[in-house]
Amino acid sequence: MQGEIALSRLSRLVTQLRGEGEALVRLRFGVDERGQSFVTGELEAAVELTCQRCLQPVSVPLEVDFRLGMVKDDAQARGLDEGYEPALLQGPTLSLHEIVEDELLLALPPVPRHPTGECPAGEGTLRFGELPEPDEETDNPFAVLRGLKGRGEGG
Ligand SMILES: [Zn+2]
Repeated sequence: MQGEIALSRLSRLVTQLRGEGEALVRLRFGVDERGQSFVTGELEAAVELTCQRCLQPVSVPLEVDFRLGMVKDDAQARGLDEGYEPALLQGPTLSLHEIVEDELLLALPPVPRHPTGECPAGEGTLRFGELPEPDEETDNPFAVLRGLKGRGEGG
């Protein structure tokens, strides 16, 4: 099964994003040799987040592979084979939107940033010794104040 899901339909995810977009979703359902129902999936999306260095939009590609074993309760979840993450069934059907949304939320970078060299704010690693010296004549705020005062007295 393959399709696209509009990110705007994923209400918890969309609050984390600056813009809308779509996620490409590929899912496969099956039952393994132990009788365990599972779903494997691949998600691809480009989400627009805020760069925490320059506060400008940054497009972050997300690619997620997952393998979920469907369980009805915690006991079943504990009995899952290694390699499966448990997906708790809330009813007779599994909400694909919930699964896709959960996986995309987990894949979001905790501190989104532009890639090295592409951030307008630079690398943000200036040390004190590298700060440019202020120009005495034009940039020194006290020089400006002196100039104002002088003009006032000259009247
Ligand atoms: Zn940036």
